[in-house]
Amino acid sequence: MIALDEILGTNILHKYALVCVDMQADFANRLFTYKIPQDMLVVPGMKLEVPFGRKYINGFVLETTAETDVDSKKLKFIFNTYQDYIIPADLLDLAKWMSQQYYTMLIHCLVCVSPSVPKKPAKLPIIAENLTAQEKNVSQICENISAKENEITLSLEQTQAVQKILGWQKVPKKQKMPILLHGVTGSGKTEVYMRIISDVLKQGKQAIMLVPEIALTYQVVQIFTERFGKLAVFTHSGLTAQERFANWQKAKNGEISVMIGPRSAIFAPFDKLGAIIIDEEHEHTYRQSELPPKFDTKEVALQRKKYIEQNGGECLLVMGSATPLLESYYNAVVAEKFSLITMQNRINEMFPTVNIVDMRKELAAGNTSMFGADFQKAMLQELNAGRQAILFLNRRGHSSFVSCRTCGHVMGCNNCSVNLTYHANFSVSSSNVYEKPEKLLCHYCGVSVPVPNICPACSSKFIKYFGLGTQKIEEEVAKLFSGFSSLRMDFDTTRKRADNGKLNNLNKSNSHEKILAAFRNNEAQILIGTQMIAKGLDFPNVTIVGIMAADLSLYSGSFRAAENTFQLITQVSGRAGRAAKQGKVYIQTYNPEHYSIQLAQKADYSTFYLQETSLRRTMSYPPFCNVFVILFSAENEQIIVKALQKLLAVMQYCNKKGNFEMFGPMPAVISKIKKQFRWKLLVKSVNEELLKQFVLYCLGKLKDNDPLTGVTISLTLNPMSVE
Ligand code: ADP
Ligand code: ZN
Ligand code: ZN
Repeated sequence: MIALDEILGTNILHKYALVCVDMQADFANRLFTYKIPQDMLVVPGMKLEVPFGRKYINGFVLETTAETDVDSKKLKFIFNTYQDYIIPADLLDLAKWMSQQYYTMLIHCLVCVSPSVPKKPAKLPIIAENLTAQEKNVSQICENISAKENEITLSLEQTQAVQKILGWQKVPKKQKMPILLHGVTGSGKTEVYMRIISDVLKQGKQAIMLVPEIALTYQVVQIFTERFGKLAVFTHSGLTAQERFANWQKAKNGEISVMIGPRSAIFAPFDKLGAIIIDEEHEHTYRQSELPPKFDTKEVALQRKKYIEQNGGECLLVMGSATPLLESYYNAVVAEKFSLITMQNRINEMFPTVNIVDMRKELAAGNTSMFGADFQKAMLQELNAGRQAILFLNRRGHSSFVSCRTCGHVMGCNNCSVNLTYHANFSVSSSNVYEKPEKLLCHYCGVSVPVPNICPACSSKFIKYFGLGTQKIEEEVAKLFSGFSSLRMDFDTTRKRADNGKLNNLNKSNSHEKILAAFRNNEAQILIGTQMIAKGLDFPNVTIVGIMAADLSLYSGSFRAAENTFQLITQVSGRAGRAAKQGKVYIQTYNPEHYSIQLAQKADYSTFYLQETSLRRTMSYPPFCNVFVILFSAENEQIIVKALQKLLAVMQYCNKKGNFEMFGPMPAVISKIKKQFRWKLLVKSVNEELLKQFVLYCLGKLKDNDPLTGVTISLTLNPMSVE
């Protein structure tokens, strides 16, 4: 509810509201003035409905005023307000900052920081039951938490980490620095996070716990609710709008104290936020890469922390990883922007043995299976001993391309410049309920076509399937390890079929949870999956882990390829032997000499960091230089090529001091998606702020001269994945 002082304050005399309307057009990218009806309560941050042209649309109040320069007779009245949807002042401020920081229309940022409106906002379901009076008692809770904490003896490294993090709040030099917690896999970072959160809760404050994947939410939620009870809730895109809104309200009303979730949880409307924890901070999922605003969760977290500090408060920011992002580690050890804490030992004091499988040698020895011979033997041994295995491959489907043996024609997508992936009609394991019938599928636009019997180019009958996908692994596993059952977890097995028979892109089911729970209960011995299973998962009975094709990430074309490969191997390896039994890891590759693979085998982060940073320095890439990717897409390829050439000319003209280096225009790595051609221009500079200003200035000049009709512009600074 709105506080009385807000009602009785000066706002009551305010007759006008400055509104940002929910209309994604350049001309609407400013504030519009509306009249406030006499009996209507309107405050900044409030969501409302206003007449716009001939329609009614949603908008957000940025400000209310007593007077206006605009002729009042021309102004329209606000139509309706959503009294429960008021973005708090700090998040309103954050949205404005994001709009600047990510060169995005303000409305996108306002929508981003606020919950979506459920269809029936009047009756809200409460997901967890309301707290009992006993539970509400912010000492009873502390006692419960302490009782549970007493059951666990922290390791020496955990104790030191917790003491440092909490102690640093009182050290002026360290006080405001974000903390990078570099702890090897299995070093017990989660317990450190919980101790910090518990300290924050005992001070009557709140905390946000960020995880990189929905798949990981369930595990964290289980551990957290055991510790914090109903004070902890989770939020993610798989929940309904009503559920998410209920969580939002509870956070706003102080009914809960810990919000767990993927990146959107950073916008939890806590008014006494005391800690933000970012687990697996290196993960690219912390960048919103598709929808605007393309925000970086870490930057947003820093901004929230800054805001709290500017208002006299304190907020801890802890970023944990076994493989910190190169830039983060650089910020800790060179730039002195982060404080570094290291945990070098596993709780169980055992590191897995990591074996590199040279697939060239396997082939030369006549092994055409997708498993190296030793790997297969070792896996069988572990399975026979009653233990479990995880197999990782970052590609879904069955075969990554289908081609004609007679003429070489490759089945491609008509809308995109990619091959179609063959998806089999699968019935090998219980996890495959959604994949019928067999088809060729485009992973970019979702188009599916029937599997051809004859080549569309030459009518030949000889059609062959190449390239590994998770389905094919599943098929092979069923043959090679026939006595054991497997589960597959990827995009295809974690979607729910909608009532109309169509597949839902959003996972609205709890299929992640079901698959992981079944595996945890030993209902299957082998878990096969994509990046969803690569990180964070903690299964004590898993003793063997395989990376089926490490080269997939090595040849992604990104300047981060080596780093991503190192991270992936370390993270996947980290799933093995986390409890009482020694773990074994097998990395299959055609490039066993590559430094990222060699150093990941030795779990040698420091050497990898040194080697990779020296390369980045030579090649002028982050953290030494910034890369701005300007990507234009349109149905007409000529238009974007010409526009980018014009932009380049503007840049060359404006680059008088030679501060900037331009590359391109060139086609994007995937040069067509959904019938839209894609070309890009790269601009590099050491100075991030100057680079941003330069690019925006030059783009502005181009737009003054050319409306760029039909062109979609996408701007990304230091991209996490290749564009
Ligand atoms: P990380 O996130 O660093 O990879 P986790 O936090 O998942 O590691 O911890 C690894 C395992 O060790 C988990 O099963 C966890 O329950 C257990 N663990 C953590 N701290 C302790 C401790 N102090 N004593 C006993 N077991 C612990
Ligand atoms: Zn053919
Ligand atoms: Zn396509």
